[in-house]
Amino acid sequence: MSFYDYTKPKNGTKFEGIGVARISGENQDEKSWEDQEAFYREWLDRTYGRDNYELRVIAYQGSGQILDHTEFLELCDLVATGDYDFVIAEDLSRIIRRLQAVIFCEEAEALGTRVVGIGDPVDTSIEGWEYAAVFTSLKNKAFCKDTARRIRRTLRNRFANGEIVMCLQYGYIKPHPGASDEEVQKDPEADAVYEKWVSMLEDDATYAEVARWLNSENVPTGKYCTEDKWTGAMVKRLTYNPILKGERHRNKKKVRRKQNGRPECINAPPEELLVRQVPHLAFFEPDRWDRLIRKLDERNKKYQRSKERKNDPRAGVARKRTRWPGQHLRCGVCGRIFVHGGHGRKGRMMCNGARVYTCWNAMSVDAAQVAEVVTSDIRELVRGLPSFDVHWVTEYENQRAQFRAAQDAELGRIEKELAKEKGALENFLAALGELGSSPSVLQKVKSCESKIQLLEDRRYQLEQDCGQREELPSLEEITAVSDETFSNLAVECEEFGRLMKSVVTEFFVLPYQLANGGHVQPRIAFRICLAPLVGSSDMELLQFDRIVDLAKKPKRLRFLNDVVRMVNTGEKHVDVAEKLGIFKTEVGYAMALHRRMQELGVADPWIPVVDESQAARYFKRVRNSVFKFEPLEGFESTRHPRAE
Ligand SMILES: [Zn+2]
Repeated sequence: MSFYDYTKPKNGTKFEGIGVARISGENQDEKSWEDQEAFYREWLDRTYGRDNYELRVIAYQGSGQILDHTEFLELCDLVATGDYDFVIAEDLSRIIRRLQAVIFCEEAEALGTRVVGIGDPVDTSIEGWEYAAVFTSLKNKAFCKDTARRIRRTLRNRFANGEIVMCLQYGYIKPHPGASDEEVQKDPEADAVYEKWVSMLEDDATYAEVARWLNSENVPTGKYCTEDKWTGAMVKRLTYNPILKGERHRNKKKVRRKQNGRPECINAPPEELLVRQVPHLAFFEPDRWDRLIRKLDERNKKYQRSKERKNDPRAGVARKRTRWPGQHLRCGVCGRIFVHGGHGRKGRMMCNGARVYTCWNAMSVDAAQVAEVVTSDIRELVRGLPSFDVHWVTEYENQRAQFRAAQDAELGRIEKELAKEKGALENFLAALGELGSSPSVLQKVKSCESKIQLLEDRRYQLEQDCGQREELPSLEEITAVSDETFSNLAVECEEFGRLMKSVVTEFFVLPYQLANGGHVQPRIAFRICLAPLVGSSDMELLQFDRIVDLAKKPKRLRFLNDVVRMVNTGEKHVDVAEKLGIFKTEVGYAMALHRRMQELGVADPWIPVVDESQAARYFKRVRNSVFKFEPLEGFESTRHPRAE
C-alpha cells in the first residue's frame, strides 16, 4: 500500500529517475547497455510523456549476486536521498538477485521512489506489488540453482567419459581444443625435467630452488600459464597434481556464496571427488608420487599455523632466503642464533641475544669470512682423510659394522611399532563396527592410518638404503664425493647452504682471548659429519669436531714457536727479530705470551672467555644497566667455554 502520489513529480517540474542496466558478462548476447536504455525510454515516454522526465543511467557489468558492487551501493545512496521519482530496470534481477531485491523495493517505496521491473512485471506503484516481487525473486533464485546443478551434473558426466580436458600443465600436449584424455600426450622432453624436479624435492630441495633451476634451464612454464617464469608456488601446485601419477581429479574444490554474495572457494566434501585413471599421462609410479607427497606434507606441517596457537611454528624461521651461515650459526654462550646486521654493519652477524642485552657475547663476525674459513677447513679435512692414522681407519671399520647393526635394530623397531599400530587400528575398526560411526573413533582410525603410512615410508627408506649398498663407502669414495661437493659448489648458492646445514652441526661462535690478554676474538667451533654426503644418514659416523679462527693471527702467535726455540738456545731478542724479519718488541710480546702459557700450564695460547665480568671489560653493552644474562632456555652446550 502506497501513501505517495506517483502521478506528480517530486520537484514539481519533471520526473527524475534512474535506469539500471546490467550485463553479466562480455560475451552474452543480451541487449547492450544502449539497447536497454532505449527500451526504458520507450516505457517512460508511454508512462510520463516524452520530455516529461530525466533519466540517469547506471550501467555496470558483473554478477547480480554480488551485493556490494560499487554501482549498487551508488544506486542505494541515490535512492536514499529521496529525490528520485523512479528506478527502472528491465527486470528486478537487473538490480539485484534474490530477496534483497524485494527489500530494496520496500526501502525505495518508503522514500516515495517507484521501482519498476518491466519484464517481471513488478511496479511498486501498484498495490500488491510485493507478491509479484517475491515470486519473481524466488523464481530467479531457483532458476540459478537449477542451472548451476544442471551444469555441474553435465560436467561430471562428461568428466567420467574422459572429456573436459581443462588447461593442461607443463609436460602435456593437447592436440586440439576439445581433445579428450585419450588424445592428450606427454611431452617427451618433460620426462627428464620432471625426473630432476622430483628427485630434487626428494633430496629436500625447496619449491623455490626447483623453480630457480627450471628458470636457469629455460624450461617453458606451459602453454596455458600466464607467467613466463617459474615460481615456488607454481612448482608446488604442479607437484601436487595427481595427474603426474596418472590420475585426474575433479571436484576437489567447490564454490560457495559468502554472506555478502561473493563466491568463495572451499574444499568439496570428499564424496564428491571424481577420479579418472589416465595411466598414459603418468610421469611417475603412483607409489613414488604418493611417498613424495606424504614427505612434503610432513615437511610443511611444522610451518603451518598450529591448531592450538600455543607455539608459533614460524618462530625463528626466516621469511626470506638467508645466505648461509644465516639461520645456522649460533652463539656458543647463550645458544641463540647469529643474525645478520651485527653492529649495524652489512655482512656482519651477531648474537641475537647480545642485541637485546641478554647475552654478553657481543662480538660480531663477518658472514662471508665464516663461510670461507669453515669451508676451506672442511676441504682440508676431507683431503687429509686417506692419510689418517691406523687407529682411525680401524675405528671407521668398527663403526661401519656398528652402523649395519644399528640399521637392523631400527628396522626391527619399526616392524614392532607397525605391528602395534596395525593391532590398534583393527581394534578401532572393530569398535566402529559396534558403535556405528563415532567421530572420536573415526579420528583415531585416521591418526592410526597416517602413523602406519609414515612407518611404512621409513621402512621403505631404510630397506632402500640397505639394498643400495652392502657396506658403507670406502674412505676413497668418501674423499672423492666430499672433495667434489665442497670444491664445486659456490658458497653463495642455496644448495650449498642446505648441504652445510645437513653436514655441519653444533655450529657455534665462541669468544677467546690470548693467554696474556688482548682483544676478545671469535673462534668458530663446529661438528662436521660426512655421512649424509655418501648417502648414509647416520650422524655418529664420520664425525669430526673442528675449531677455526676468524681473526688473523697476531705476529707474536705466528712466530711463537720460532721465537721460543731461538731464545731458549740463548740468542738475543735483537738477533731473533732480525732473523725472523719482525720487530724486537714482537719478540718480547711472544716471550711474554709464552711465559703466561707456562704459568697457566696450557698448550693452546687461546683461552676461552667464560663469564660476563671478563667480557664486560671489552664489551660496552654488557655494562649497560639493562643487561641481564639469560641463556636460551635449555641451552647447555658442551662447547660452552664454561664447560672447558
Ligand atoms: Zn649469545
